[in-house]
Amino acid sequence: MDCVFCAIASGAIPATIVARNAAAVAFRDQSPRAPTHILVIPVRHVASLAELDPAEVAGVIGPMASLAAEVAAAAGLAPGGYRLVINTGPDGGQTVPHLHIHLLGGRQMHWPPG
Ligand code: AMP
Ligand code: ZN
Repeated sequence: MDCVFCAIASGAIPATIVARNAAAVAFRDQSPRAPTHILVIPVRHVASLAELDPAEVAGVIGPMASLAAEVAAAAGLAPGGYRLVINTGPDGGQTVPHLHIHLLGGRQMHWPPG
């Protein structure tokens, strides 16, 4: 399958990988929107949250969210806080069809995100 995030997870294309666990990989976004902008993806291809069987959501998101929290803490973001975002589908602003959590931090976030 021709998927850029699968290629990053397998090492076929380069990325700045910051952490991984058995089910998820964290790497720096190539167009950072905050001082810290890291993407956390499942190793296995999942197109989006909307396309994931609801019975599988906890098992897929759990390892991603725990890796995101670990990376945020390691980056020193935990005391001040940070934001996790899952853009889902066209209306959600998703442009890469492989599920990912954006970890954004290092500046004050605004609400609503627009
Ligand atoms: P989204 O719009 O939620 O689908 O987010 C996709 C994100 O992936 C964007 O923030 C892009 O900057 C980022 N991105 C796309 N290709 C790469 C890549 N090869 N390496 C790192 N980040 C990427
Ligand atoms: Zn993929």
